[in-house]
Parts: sequence; C-alpha cells; structure tokens
Amino acid sequence: MSRNGNVRARFAPSPTGALHIGGAHTALFNWLWARHNGGVFILRVEDTDAERSTAEYEQTIMDGLRWLGLDWDEGPDKGGGFGPYRQSERMELYRKYADELLDGGLAYRENGAVLFRIREGLDLLLDDAIYGEIKIRSEKSSVTPDGTVKDIVIIKSDGMPTYNYAVVIDDHAMDINWVIRGEDHIANTPKQMLLYSALGWTPPRFAHLPMILGKDKKKLSKRHGATSVFEYSDMGYLPDSVFNFLALLGWSPGGGVEIFDRTTATDLFELSKVTKKPAVLDVDKLNYVNQEHLKVMNPALKRHIVEPFWTELGLCPRDHSAKYLEDALSLMGGRGQTTKELAEYSDYFVDFSPVKERYDASDIAQDRRPLLCVFYRELTSIPEWTAGEMEAFARKWCEENGIALKEVALPLRWALTGRKVSPGVFEVAELLGRDECKERLGYYKLIG
Ligand code: GLU
Repeated sequence: MSRNGNVRARFAPSPTGALHIGGAHTALFNWLWARHNGGVFILRVEDTDAERSTAEYEQTIMDGLRWLGLDWDEGPDKGGGFGPYRQSERMELYRKYADELLDGGLAYRENGAVLFRIREGLDLLLDDAIYGEIKIRSEKSSVTPDGTVKDIVIIKSDGMPTYNYAVVIDDHAMDINWVIRGEDHIANTPKQMLLYSALGWTPPRFAHLPMILGKDKKKLSKRHGATSVFEYSDMGYLPDSVFNFLALLGWSPGGGVEIFDRTTATDLFELSKVTKKPAVLDVDKLNYVNQEHLKVMNPALKRHIVEPFWTELGLCPRDHSAKYLEDALSLMGGRGQTTKELAEYSDYFVDFSPVKERYDASDIAQDRRPLLCVFYRELTSIPEWTAGEMEAFARKWCEENGIALKEVALPLRWALTGRKVSPGVFEVAELLGRDECKERLGYYKLIG
C-alpha cells in the first residue's frame, strides 16, 4: 500500500475504565497507520454512556496513551478542525441527522426513541483491509419475543445516540477515512454501512484487528493478570517494550525481527500484513522483549527509571551519585527482565540493609573464620582497589594457601550482596568501594 498523507485514523475509547491492553492495541495500530502514512491520528472520546463515563477515566486513557508514546494530532485536550472531540458535546449533530432520516422516512419514532428502518435483503460487501471481503445480507437486528423483527435504535428515549449511529455521524463529520478497531466490531459494521448508505455518504475503509487471547486461548480478561496499561508500568515494564510487544500482537516487521523501536515500526508497518489469526498475549514474550530493551537503554535513562523502584523497596538512591548508580546498573548487564527485577537484583549497591536481611553468615563454619579473616584483611589492604588487582591478589593467595578461589569468593559475594549470584564479585567490590566492603565484612565479623 502506498503512503497516503491523507490518512485520518482515530482511536475512539469510551471513558468507562482505564486504558486496557485491547484498547491500547487498537490505539497503537491506528497510530502506526497514521504515522506510517504521514497522516493524522485523532482521539475521540465516546462518552454517551453518561452513567459510566467519567472525566477521570478520560484522563487515565490519555495518560496511558502518552505513556506508550502515542501522541494524537486532534483531540478533546488539543482541539482541531473537526471538534468537539467528545460525543457528549456533539448532541446537536446527532439530532440534526436523526431529523433528516425521520424527514426522509428512513427512520421513525417509537416510545420516544428514534429507530432506523433496516432494509432487509440488501447484499452488503465489507471489504476489510485485514479480513478481506465479507459478504453480508442486511437483516433486522433482533427478534422480539413476539416474533417481530426490530429496526435499530439510533436515538434512545433519553435523547442519547447509540454507538452504531454516533460512530457513523462522527466518522463522517470528522473526515475519518480509516476505521481500525477490534474484530468484535465486525458484527456492527453492516448496520453502520446501511446508515452511511441512507445518509448518502461514502463509508471509510475498515480494518478489523485480530482478537487478543490469553495463553489459555480464552478471551483476555482479568483472570489473565494485568489488563490495564498502568499495571504494566507498575510491574516494571518499559513503555518502549509494551509498545513493541503490542505491535507484535498481529503484526511483525518480517525477517524474524522482534525487537524494534517506534521509528522502525512506523517505517515498516503495513495494515495488509496484519494477521486475522487471534493473537496470544504471552507474558514470557513480554519479559523477553522488555529485557532486550533494557539491555540497550542508555545508562542515565535506565537509572532514571529504576530509581523509583529502588525507592519502593525502601532504599535511598539519592544517597549516591548518578555516576555510581549508572555504573552499578551497567555492571548488572542483562540481568532482570523488568525494571522492578533489576532494582531488586541490584539493591545491595544502594544500601547494605537488604543484605543484612537476607544473609546472616551462619553458613560459615567457625573453624573457617580465622582463615577467611586473614584473607579479607589482606584483601582490603591491597594498594589499589581495582577488580583486576583484587583478583590477582586472591588467585595468588589461594594458590599459596592451597585453597580454591571460590572458598574466599563465595562468602565475599554473600557478605557484599546477600545473594548467591551477582556480577563478578571483585567488580562489585570495586564499585562498592573499599570502606563499604570493610564495613560489610566487619558486620559479619570477617575481618577480625
Ligand atoms: N467506543 C467504541 C469502543 O470503545 C469505538 C469502536 C469503534 O472504533 O468504532 O469500542
């Protein structure tokens, strides 16, 4: 598909809950398609359900989109040439076209509501950019208990428009030419197409995105763990990773590439390459994607995002210089799949207290202590406090004393980190600094 600067795509959430994974996925694909084509991405708030819609949810949805890096060109907060961008502020427009349909005999009033007359037996062709051609024969939308068929309500008796109606009016009025949304809306599309035809309007192109399933192949729900975007943020996933991961649900740039940034995704995105096969939300995959993004993140940014997680653990990163914390994180290499894990694994760089909580040195046999004390005392007195010097000294000392290096290195690691695994123990010791190492060894009575 060639680039089309006239693409106008929209994300149209109802502010009745937080931005969940399904919504974020839809928003992201609209954003990718608009950005790929140099077009326009619009945020329209579908708040006609006055009871369930709140300003807070609208705000959380916007915050969630911003967190993911999905910026919009027109929307309730920024305006634009096709506003207002909240359906609750567009009532006049819905009334105007309902009147037009009523005047033309295409709609009628019943019990205070306005119903759109469905012309039965029309063959409709939905040429979906992802699902391909879907042939649908128009029929009345539901059968009432007494067996009569019903037309569709467009304005409810309380004066509020229904979704299928308002969406058509707005997509047309806002000049939307691409409607990209979840496949659960395929069933609504014929009704909307009939409304386009009754109003004499050309429908937009439709693209329905694959369903997202949990690992058990069931529709995504709370049972599958985190559903809102901010829960992922709280768990320590990076926005770049969640973006990358969501983009992989139904699409891939090809060539086996799985890790990419927004620019690459924007360049390579094609709606025609989106699959209709349901996409499975696999947390292991997200962990992998997140770890890959963490690995290549620049040290200052990494420190910035890990700091709140250290603080959450009750530690005080502010006690240290930025350089020290960045060096600590660099030393952690690719450890930790989430920011939260990374903060946990590296806690001993920030403070000694978690080490004390984890380790009590009771594993060190009393008769080993004198030898260890001699070694650690000599080690902490070497002239130059570098990992290289420490290691050379330790190797030589162990050889002379006829013991294996690990016999001195393992207790040292435990005393400094409170962990069985860590980056190279002499690198850790170098960064912690001589005084801090002496303090930790002293606490465990390992320097005499
Ligand atoms: N407000 C609708 C929803 O959240 C929008 C559907 C559409 O994109 O047409 O499902």
